[in-house]
Amino acid sequence: MSNFPFPILVAAIFLFGCLAVLHIHRRQQEAQRDLPQRDEYLAAHCQQTPACLRCASTDTREFGLHEGEDVQRIVACKKCDQLMYRYRRTAAA
Ligand SMILES: [Zn+2]
Repeated sequence: MSNFPFPILVAAIFLFGCLAVLHIHRRQQEAQRDLPQRDEYLAAHCQQTPACLRCASTDTREFGLHEGEDVQRIVACKKCDQLMYRYRRTAAA
């Protein structure tokens, strides 16, 4: 290990760091893609209006699955960031 060239060591650490970040990002996207649709979420938890399962808040925030303006919307609790459900935005604004 001591005669391992330093630049190669730095490049290897950088590469593995990037792979780790990519892996975490992919896991998050898979979790978001596996979320139930809004109707399924409401039915599964016997709710009239969607509420957070962790903190019962009805304040939500939404964001696109792949990018900010993606038609696939992910809804999460505004208070505790718990992922809730996803829906497809129909009308283009
Ligand atoms: Zn919450």
